[in-house]
Amino acid sequence: MSVEEPSLPVSAPEAKTILLGFQGKDIPSAAVIQACVHCGLCLPVCPTYLETGRETSSPRGRILLIKAVSEGQIGLDSAVFQREMSLCLDCRACEVVCPNGVHYGRLLEASREQLERFKAQFEPRPWWQKLLRKVVFEGLFAKPLLFQMFSQLLAIYQKSGFQQLARQSGLLQSLKVQEAEALLPNFSEDFMVPKGQIYPAEGKRRFTVALLTGCVMSTAFAQVHKATIRVLQKNGCEVILPPDQTCCGALHFHSGLLEEGRALAKQNIITFTGLGVDAIIVNAAGCGSTLKEYGHLLADDPLWQARAKSFTAKVKDIHEFLGEIDLNRADLGHLPLIVTYQEPCHLAHAQRLTSQPRALLTAIPGLTLREMPESSVCCGSAGVYNLLQPVMAQQLGQRKVRHALATGANVIATANPGCALQLAAELKRQGQTVQIHYIVELLAEAYQSGQKQG
Ligand code: SF4
Ligand code: SF4
Repeated sequence: MSVEEPSLPVSAPEAKTILLGFQGKDIPSAAVIQACVHCGLCLPVCPTYLETGRETSSPRGRILLIKAVSEGQIGLDSAVFQREMSLCLDCRACEVVCPNGVHYGRLLEASREQLERFKAQFEPRPWWQKLLRKVVFEGLFAKPLLFQMFSQLLAIYQKSGFQQLARQSGLLQSLKVQEAEALLPNFSEDFMVPKGQIYPAEGKRRFTVALLTGCVMSTAFAQVHKATIRVLQKNGCEVILPPDQTCCGALHFHSGLLEEGRALAKQNIITFTGLGVDAIIVNAAGCGSTLKEYGHLLADDPLWQARAKSFTAKVKDIHEFLGEIDLNRADLGHLPLIVTYQEPCHLAHAQRLTSQPRALLTAIPGLTLREMPESSVCCGSAGVYNLLQPVMAQQLGQRKVRHALATGANVIATANPGCALQLAAELKRQGQTVQIHYIVELLAEAYQSGQKQG
């Protein structure tokens, strides 16, 4: 694909619109904008550029748009600026290849925060959108108890047969929620890992760790938490599930709601600080990368900067942690599976963890790892992106599934709830039966198989 020369994508009439620039707190950093030398090395790894071939839908194009707003050449009301801030997946693939270390994600998140404030003032959303956002961001994803109650309602919806009825009757199509509904996780019988528990180490205790339970992970993916706890126990870890922890704030930060995200960050810092643990373990890539950003997100707050920094220093992704300790390989049993690995963006790009997940997969006796092309190109999930940008999300989901199926694997391994749901929905749409598992689930299964064999 040829690389276009960078240019300001501003049409003359648009340039004449009222100029409304960045203001107040969280202004995209001029130093970060200037660090971009427009070399274009980031273009071939950008999913939205790969799909559209449009300069404005590339990292370089978006940085130029952010620069244009910061210099007053276009305003926050620019349609192309608004479109691109929304179309970007915040996957941060561009950051990994950038020779100048441009922190693109920080520019994007600050720009989205600015847009949120601008829209609240000049382009108010309809009442129902405001209400929905309030329910989602200030309710469900800010109050774990509400999220649990909501999960219970969804479990009733799925188990009562109403889901099947709604799908077959055409109700979902007429309400235009068919695509969104297809992304719902399966809420099983025994969902929810109780918080406030302490799980003892198996054998001699080597470490004491705390586990972030999160929101979606603590209900729809409770089996992944159980697998994580089991794997940690098998590796000599005592595992604490602190009761007052809350959502990591990832959805808020990615949606430009930085203050709301910061409030959640502070609650988590209070909860985990003082436990005296060796590490704070996270098994969802998006949550892990957000927790590791708390230091940056609270850097301007004199009361919180030091606490945020020491909290962040303890955060470890589960694959990272297991890669740093002497893994218990002796108890791993045989798993005769062909597995391909779908790299979550927030593991591969935001946390730069690429070898550790693969090393764990290949540590399992009998498991064959087959690499897919473009394993680290975003699958289109990106938090709530697949709800807000369904067309691009579906294109990327199809691209990912095509590559995964080409390997002939019978399992797709991943490490993030959004990726798992996005891939499951696309596989279902295509009538494919390939399974999706977290890496820790495969490890837990291998330990169980080892017990049986022993
Ligand atoms: S690779 Fe970095 S410096 Fe080059 S265009 Fe992309 S963001 Fe700018
Ligand atoms: S974050 Fe991802 S989608 Fe956005 S500009 Fe960078 S590579 Fe492209």
